[in-house]
Amino acid sequence: MAPLTLALVGIGKIAVDQHVPALAASADWRLGATVSRHGTVPGVPAYTDMAQMLDAHPEVSVVSLALPPVPRFAAAKAALLAGRHVMLEKPPGATLAEVHALAALAAARGLTLYTTWHSRMAHAVAPAKAWLADKTVTKATITWREDVRKWHPGQDWVFEPGGMGVFDPGINALSIMTHILPDPVHLQSAELEFPANRQTPIAARLSFSGNVSADFDWRQTGPQTWDIQVQTPQGSLALRMGGNVLEIDGQPSGGANSLMGEYPALYARMAELVRQGQSEVDLTPMIHVADALTLGRRIQTEDFSF
Ligand code: NAP
Repeated sequence: MAPLTLALVGIGKIAVDQHVPALAASADWRLGATVSRHGTVPGVPAYTDMAQMLDAHPEVSVVSLALPPVPRFAAAKAALLAGRHVMLEKPPGATLAEVHALAALAAARGLTLYTTWHSRMAHAVAPAKAWLADKTVTKATITWREDVRKWHPGQDWVFEPGGMGVFDPGINALSIMTHILPDPVHLQSAELEFPANRQTPIAARLSFSGNVSADFDWRQTGPQTWDIQVQTPQGSLALRMGGNVLEIDGQPSGGANSLMGEYPALYARMAELVRQGQSEVDLTPMIHVADALTLGRRIQTEDFSF
């Protein structure tokens, strides 16, 4: 099958670390252009303006947006209005309503919109979902503690309105939680720690129905923790390394300790959606973040600087 030609927008950390290698390794895709004010990809026509790229490259049928969430809506809307399919990094937007608007626009024009959740593609997530499918969850505990200076070096946007703070990684855990738990849960209470000099939380503790809880913290140095532990009457499950490694009753039970399978799987799914003329828009992880920001008790903590 002929490859699909794609434009990648926002050549920053995740574009360079994951999108570009995943595209280069796939027979489904040809990277036909980039749009970024500063970043480029060697050998690929580079633009700083979205409209110019869309005009110059009618062969680009898909636009993948690796921008931070706040500037993403305008870029996505422009691409859809120009008749291109759109793939959105997580979180899919700065607000829920803007993603609903994009979904309506894509549907009206017969275009594909894909709200990606890369952590759902981690190696052990599908087997964890299958193991839980016929079980009753009695308790689930999420611990997502990482070092913001390591994963978002100097990225002030994460602490600006719409940047989501610690929910930027935390939403990855919520994307797995909403995918693997056999029954939906809803937020009941939350505590959010905001640095006095910042607009978004650096830590959050969430309590959900169904005895499900989450502990997100961006201040962890040294070993990083991305764990989800689930108890059932039939045994316990642990997903470690961001969903890549599975343990059942404390014993290794599959997966692979590598993040590198997630983006190839996202791009394979996008190729499938485009070829089938379908969209995939799931906002459930982001609903929990919006609920936490609505319901959460706010605690002021010490200033943060990179
Ligand atoms: P980033 O490097 O700060 O941003 C990506 C690029 O977007 C920047 O290099 C910049 O390119 C452009 N950009 C930034 N702010 C902009 C603005 N206000 N208007 C227009 N363009 C802007 O961020 P990232 O870490 O790659 O994250 C991007 C998205 O990927 C986020 O939604 C994040 O949650 C997601 N993600 C990140 C990671 C990670 O490990 N960092 C992992 C998975 C997913 P130019 O200056 O060249 O325009």
